[in-house]
Amino acid sequence: MANFSKIESMVKNENNFQVLAEMAPQIIWSATFDGKMKYFNQFWYEFTGLSEAESLGLNWRNYVHPEDSNVLNNVWQSGINIKKPFHLELRLLDKNNDYKWFLCKAIPNKTGNEEVSEWIGTLTDIQEQKQILGLVKEKAEEFEILADNIKHHVWVESADGEPEYFNKTFFDYTGLNLAKISTDRLKIFHPDELEEIKEAWYASKKAKSNFEYETRIKSKSGDYRWFKIRAVPLKDKDGNVLKWIGTNTDINDNKIFEKQKDDFLNVASHELKTPLTSIKGYVQLISNEFEGMDKETLKLLVDNTAKSVEKLNKLIEDMLDISRIETGHLNEFEMELFSVDEFLKELIVQLQESQNGRIIYESNSDIYINGNKNRLKQVFQNLLSNAVKYSPPDTDISVNVQKKNNYVSISILDHGNGISNENMDRIFERFYRTDSNTLSGLGLGLFISREIVKLHKGQIWVESEVGKGSVFHVELPIANT
Ligand code: ADP
Repeated sequence: MANFSKIESMVKNENNFQVLAEMAPQIIWSATFDGKMKYFNQFWYEFTGLSEAESLGLNWRNYVHPEDSNVLNNVWQSGINIKKPFHLELRLLDKNNDYKWFLCKAIPNKTGNEEVSEWIGTLTDIQEQKQILGLVKEKAEEFEILADNIKHHVWVESADGEPEYFNKTFFDYTGLNLAKISTDRLKIFHPDELEEIKEAWYASKKAKSNFEYETRIKSKSGDYRWFKIRAVPLKDKDGNVLKWIGTNTDINDNKIFEKQKDDFLNVASHELKTPLTSIKGYVQLISNEFEGMDKETLKLLVDNTAKSVEKLNKLIEDMLDISRIETGHLNEFEMELFSVDEFLKELIVQLQESQNGRIIYESNSDIYINGNKNRLKQVFQNLLSNAVKYSPPDTDISVNVQKKNNYVSISILDHGNGISNENMDRIFERFYRTDSNTLSGLGLGLFISREIVKLHKGQIWVESEVGKGSVFHVELPIANT
């Protein structure tokens, strides 16, 4: 307004106004009390390339972008009606036939009785601002689309701790909304980490340095997952923090895997140590007592040593298989055609002795498959020894063979403790052992079995009821004979 009144006083002196107007680096105009153009400065004629006849009166409006005509008419007319300064944005056609954005400002020059004698105005080139603004808007939209569609949480907080932006992924995960952020924000962190995270955050804010912290964040369903929170300060040229830009990355699977790996190393060293200690004991006994030892005792000790060696060998083979799976080398085996029935009978005869005759197998199927006997033996040995291991000693284990279209389905049923729904898929993950499991084992057998079955283009899964028992199913394609 201050500018307008200054100009108002200047226009009182016509000569000064004309001189200034001609020199001004923008379009200056004046119009009659009812809005008809009576003057444009040089800048207008240079910009439009028009003649006076084409410009004055209402003619100049022919060079306003058609889409801006309505706004121009309305704003202009209401300005004239209420006799007050007005402004609007419009596009004008330049001499090269391109439209450019202008800001049009108009103020009334009033006589003593408040009547408008004429209108004075400017048209300022705002093409560049418009372009920049458009670009900024476009970038902001791009950022939001990007931020909303990545799986990380993205957030922005002002220097004084006011939440400014949270992406859709964050809201979807936490179930919060912008209104609830200020009050409920700290409630999403796990209480065990909350105090530490607060301290670390204040320390980063004080030092104006990057922030990094691993914590559990509560989902809308009430479960916690591990996230890595990172925040960087956005600073002005003097080093003052303007805002903090942060991301939360879900590291839950990594965290669980790391813990499983640590647990595995603990269990593995223990599992390896047990048979090794037995072997050492037996060998020492044989060595010390060899002279006076009768043949039967000696045989027993040697057999026990052999069993422990076999146990050790199995553990090491399992570990080697894990690295074969990881390097993609588990598939290095030959396939042969064989009878499922003969294969299972042979295997069960071998196992029966150590399993106290608990395995029941009755089948006379005549089904042939293409496969690697050693690898498939590993699968069924593991399933059968699990069935024995995880069920009471006085219960049976049944093996059943069925033909299902082009597949043979082999099921192993036990009457053990069973497996809960949430664990049914997880037991096929490497290192995974159910919490309640206190028996020895590395949690690798089912993982390796699943990989072997996959390499035979088959499937393995479990059906189970806690307290009643489990049925492990292996489905393998029947060979085309
Ligand atoms: P391991 O027996 O060495 O732990 P596995 O991969 O063979 O490893 O089995 C993974 C887990 O699955 C076991 O630790 C056990 O908790 C569960 N499990 C496997 N078979 C059975 C079963 N027949 N009954 C109940 N739980 C089982």
